[in-house]
Amino acid sequence: MGIPAYRPPDEPGLWDVFLNRLERVLKKASLHPTTVEYLVHPRRLVTVSVPVKMDDGKVRFFQGYRVVHNIARGPSIGGVRYHPKVSLGQTAGLAAWMTLKAAVYGLPFGGAAGGVAVDPKALSSKELERLTRRYTAELVNLIGPDIDILGPDLGTHEGIMAWMMDTYSMTLGTTVPGVVVGKPAALGGTEGRDDAVGLSVALVLWTLAERRGLPLEGARVAVQGFGQVGGAAAFWLARMGLKVVAVSTSKGGVYDPEGLEVEALLAHYGETGELPPWGESISNEALLSLEVDYLIPAALEGVLDGKAAQKVRARAVLEAANGAVTDEAEAHLLGRGVLVVPDLLTGGGGLLSGYLEWVQDLNMFFWTKEEVRARIEASVRRAVEEVCERAEALEADLRTGALALALERVNEATRLRGVYP
Ligand code: NAD
Repeated sequence: MGIPAYRPPDEPGLWDVFLNRLERVLKKASLHPTTVEYLVHPRRLVTVSVPVKMDDGKVRFFQGYRVVHNIARGPSIGGVRYHPKVSLGQTAGLAAWMTLKAAVYGLPFGGAAGGVAVDPKALSSKELERLTRRYTAELVNLIGPDIDILGPDLGTHEGIMAWMMDTYSMTLGTTVPGVVVGKPAALGGTEGRDDAVGLSVALVLWTLAERRGLPLEGARVAVQGFGQVGGAAAFWLARMGLKVVAVSTSKGGVYDPEGLEVEALLAHYGETGELPPWGESISNEALLSLEVDYLIPAALEGVLDGKAAQKVRARAVLEAANGAVTDEAEAHLLGRGVLVVPDLLTGGGGLLSGYLEWVQDLNMFFWTKEEVRARIEASVRRAVEEVCERAEALEADLRTGALALALERVNEATRLRGVYP
C-alpha cells in the first residue's frame, strides 16, 4: 500500500488482504484521498481482557476484541467470533469487509467485527455464558442499536446473541433487542434467518443468469459444503428448477448426473449428520472439476486455489464461502472466460437478514417469513443489477465492480459528512 496504513500488532492476515484489494481497485474507482485515509485507518480498535470464573473456581483471562472500521454510512454492524485464532489483525480485516458488504447492498451501516480468542467447545455452557456476558459488559458503552450492532459469526450462535442482548439490556435497565442481530425469534429475531444466505446465493445466481442469458431451467449445479449456506442454496436452486447434481461435506460427496433429490438429502443429513449413499460417491476435489453450469464452493476459504482452478469446468463460480476463490485462481478463471461471482455479492443474505431484524426491532413490528424473503429478493435483485452495471461501465470483472460500487458509496457518504470538527 502506497500510503501509510494502520498496522495491527499481531497477525495482519485479513487486514492485509483488504489493503491489497483496496489498492487494486483504486486504479479503477475514483476515491478522494481523505476517504482512502479513513478506509486504511479503522475508526476504533478495542482490546479487552475478559476474566471468567471457570467451573473449577479458578479465574481465567481471555483476550477479546471489537473493531469498528468505518461509520460513514451509518452505525456499524458485525459478527462476534469465538475461535482460538482470533486476533486484532483478523478482526480489523473482517470489520473492513463488513463496511464493503453493507455498502454493496446499499444498507445504512458501517462495518465492525469482534471476537474472543477462545475455543468455545472447550468451555461448559455456564463458562460460555459468563465469558459472553463479561465480554458484552466490557463493551457496553461502545455498542447499541444506533452505535454498533453485534451479530453471530464462527463459534457463536443465537443463544450467545440472547445472552449479549440480555446483558446489554439489564445494564441499561430497559430491553433493547436491536443491539444484537441473529437472536432467537422469541426475543425479536427475524423469521427467515436460517436460510437467508443460501437464498441469496440462489437469487444471485438466478438474477445474473437472467441478465447474462445463462441457462436456468435444468442447468447443472455442484455445491461443495452442505451446511447452513450450501444446504439452503441447494434447496432453493432445486426449487427454482435447476438440477443439483452434486453436493458434499467434509467427508466427501454424492453425485448423480440426473439430479439429486435435495429435499430428501437435507432430511437425511438433518437426521443423521451424514449424506446417504445415493448416486455415485465423489471426492471434494473431483466435485470442483465436474462439468456443470454453476459451481458453488460453500464450505471453506481458499478452497479454489491456482491449482484447483485449472481443473474447473463450470461456466460460473459463485463464491458462497467467504474468500473461497484465491486471487491466483480468479485470474486464471477470468482468463478462461469463467464468470466469478464474489462473496461480497453472493453471501449478502446474512447481512440482509441482520438489517431486516434490526429494522423490525427498532419498530417493534414483525414480518412473516414470506415478507422477509420478499424483501431479501428485492434487495438481491437490485444489488446484482447495480454490481453488473458498475462492472460493465468499468469493463471489469464482478469483484472489481462490487468493490468499486461499495467504495464509491462510502466515498460519497464521507464527502457529504465532511471531517468532524
Ligand atoms: P456450516 O458449518 O453450517 O457448514 C459447512 C459445511 O462445509 C458442512 O457441510 C461441512 O461438512 C462442509 N465442509 C467442511 N470442511 C469441508 C471440506 N474440506 N470440504 C468440503 N466440505 C467441507 O457453515 P456455513 O454457515 O454453511 O458456512 C459455510 C461458509 O459460508 C463459511 O465459509 C462461511 O464463512 C460462509 N458464510 C456463512 C454465512 C452465514 O451467515 N452462515 C454468511 C456468509 C458466508
